[in-house]
Amino acid sequence: MSDEHSRDLYDRALSVLPGGVNSAVRAAIEPYPPFIQRGDGGHVVDADGDRYIDWVMGLGPLLYGHDLPQPVEAAVQSHVSEGPMYGMPTEIEVEQAEFVARHVPSVEMLRFVNSGTEATVSACRLARAYTGNDKIVVMQGGYHGAQETTLVEGKYDHTSPSSPGIPDSFVEHTLAVPFNDEGAAHTVFEEHGDDIAGVLVEPILANTGIVEPVDGYHDTLRDLCDDHDALLMWDEVITGFRVGGLGCAQSKYDVEPDLTTFGKLIGGGFPVGAIGGPAELVEHFTPSGDVFQAGTFSGHPVTMAAGLESLRYAAENDVYDHVHGLGQQLRRGLQEIVQDQAPQYTVTGTDGMFKLLFTREGPDDFEGHCEGGCSQREACPRYDYCPKNAADVAAGETDRWRRVFWPKMKERGVFLSQNQFESQFVTYAHTEDDVEETLEAYKEAL
Ligand SMILES: *Cc1c(COP(=O)(O)O)cnc(C)c1O
Repeated sequence: MSDEHSRDLYDRALSVLPGGVNSAVRAAIEPYPPFIQRGDGGHVVDADGDRYIDWVMGLGPLLYGHDLPQPVEAAVQSHVSEGPMYGMPTEIEVEQAEFVARHVPSVEMLRFVNSGTEATVSACRLARAYTGNDKIVVMQGGYHGAQETTLVEGKYDHTSPSSPGIPDSFVEHTLAVPFNDEGAAHTVFEEHGDDIAGVLVEPILANTGIVEPVDGYHDTLRDLCDDHDALLMWDEVITGFRVGGLGCAQSKYDVEPDLTTFGKLIGGGFPVGAIGGPAELVEHFTPSGDVFQAGTFSGHPVTMAAGLESLRYAAENDVYDHVHGLGQQLRRGLQEIVQDQAPQYTVTGTDGMFKLLFTREGPDDFEGHCEGGCSQREACPRYDYCPKNAADVAAGETDRWRRVFWPKMKERGVFLSQNQFESQFVTYAHTEDDVEETLEAYKEAL
């Protein structure tokens, strides 16, 4: 394997793109990231012509891998050929909204936008306008895009911006608590309950993880929001139409958020975001309400067609069975490998998501443990070792993961996500052979 072309492209990119990339995480691979030439099913081919099994999958938006199912491709082509967009409404936006509202329990109405970031920005604006309060509760290590309200570090009301360029006076309205910590959630509501507009939370910590919720955690957040007239906002940008199938994570965990943000899969691989919820809330957006919200590209016909046909295809075929089945096969296989080679490591993930966390401690005895990855089951001997929040994940062997393990996997023809924290994704295009080959690579690289 050579990587001359990637190196040369990166060299050129450094002159015209800051850090050589258009999204920071892409440069996490050292000394330079592979540039991709094209995708092929569950594989990608890089600029040097080398082929890899791809578990990055766009970091979330691709349910079908790199080959669009025929009806999806046809819908995209036909909308492209009719002229890409108009600045006026089209039927396909209505159809996509109808489809989502029919399948996602808490959603009656949606506003489409162009990214997950835009969705969470607008959701926070809506929550603040609706409640008349300014404070938003987020989870430490939760990710809601590159936006001012949520780029914070610290705890409770001792938060500071996690990036230069964000005024302290913005983040004084953001309260951060550890995921899965019911006590911290109670504390923050006891101290600030009258000023809280809402809680913005990923159902599963998927950008610093993967960490699943402990039993009852989301119910606690639901109750606290109800008791304080705050909005519960679920950020399903990654989990939407991935975890829990067409009903999303809220159907799997049986929790009804007030607002839900979507992105990634809902646009079938094209730039997208959305804010959904009951009409009574979503109608506060302009022009039906007075909370300003707008976008030149919002509801883009090509994106809507790709998203709608992708979801329809999933409704009519064995897509989730295939994806969840392979996900389980991967997680079980990984569990067997680490038990043998690195019993302190933790297999995590659910449905079509998986990750191996390089945790530093584990149990001596695996009797009765969860075979398909940590699902925060209290009876499991791993329960006390399985990360519960972002700090637990960050305490792992992240340098070993990045500097030693990732390159070894690449050498063996397997692309994992760019750092220890991002999820990896199973798609309809992956095969049992891809899973077996990947497990073999883990066995050798660990
Ligand atoms: C990816 C992601 C976002 C940001 O979406 P963009 O389209 O990258 O702006 C927000 N929230 C979650 C949970 C995400 O995974």
